[in-house]
Amino acid sequence: MRFDVVTIFPAMVQQALGAGIVGRAIERRTLNVVVHDLRDFTTDRHRVVDDVPYGGGPGMVLKPEPIFRALDAIEALEESRPTVLLTSPQGTRLTQQVVERLSRQPRLVLLCGRYEGVDERVRSRVDEEISIGDYVLSGGELPALVIIDAVARLVPGVVGDEQSVAEDSFGRGLLDYPHYTRPAEIADGATGGVLAVPDVLLSGNHAEIRRWRKRQALARTLERRPDLLAGAELDDEEEKLLRDLKAQQGHET
Ligand code: SAH
Repeated sequence: MRFDVVTIFPAMVQQALGAGIVGRAIERRTLNVVVHDLRDFTTDRHRVVDDVPYGGGPGMVLKPEPIFRALDAIEALEESRPTVLLTSPQGTRLTQQVVERLSRQPRLVLLCGRYEGVDERVRSRVDEEISIGDYVLSGGELPALVIIDAVARLVPGVVGDEQSVAEDSFGRGLLDYPHYTRPAEIADGATGGVLAVPDVLLSGNHAEIRRWRKRQALARTLERRPDLLAGAELDDEEEKLLRDLKAQQGHET
């Protein structure tokens, strides 16, 4: 899968792409991420990318022509037309479902706004605006990195273990079950007691472990994000576990 990022801070994006799973996938060429400096698409001596807003008011606006030129150049790089995304707090809110949809595209272009944002006419070349949440950041670079990271994890071959991706939170509309690693017991500095790993995980009984994890995932989702349960894909065992959990909850309240 190919990503093209257009930004006035290429180093900020490039730097973050080197680490971890995404960095390794780029090294192995499973992912191709090309970061473009918007200033390279200016034609004036001072490489100006912003200007004052028509109508007055505070702040600066990213000029349209450098962005159009960047898109022309990026679109000409390969035959297939890429999907052009504009990072914007006014866009479609990014969820795992949106991430899944984006991961089916072979080519994504990510435009990073700055200042008050981009000239409104840029939207004529944009397929979709994406927001990473209801808050305002100073630029689209962190959102672009968030989008790349979340989408990349779903590209086959990027995360070693596909099963672990499927079991992550939101994978099937549920939150993930809790994870533990060695040692089995650690001292609880706060109480003087011990913090122990649940016995079932040490039992070696794989059927029991699987059931415990399902129950934990359901209990967490019910407790923290009951809104997710409406859209979750549950198997028969999970339906039954959920009914039991709800009945229990009913008793407690
Ligand atoms: N005046 C704009 C905000 C500009 S913030 C408005 O109120 O809509 C500057 C840039 O940061 C935006 O152009 C966008 O690229 C990026 N940005 C800020 N918050 C974002 C968010 N929640 N999601 C995605 N991009 C965001």
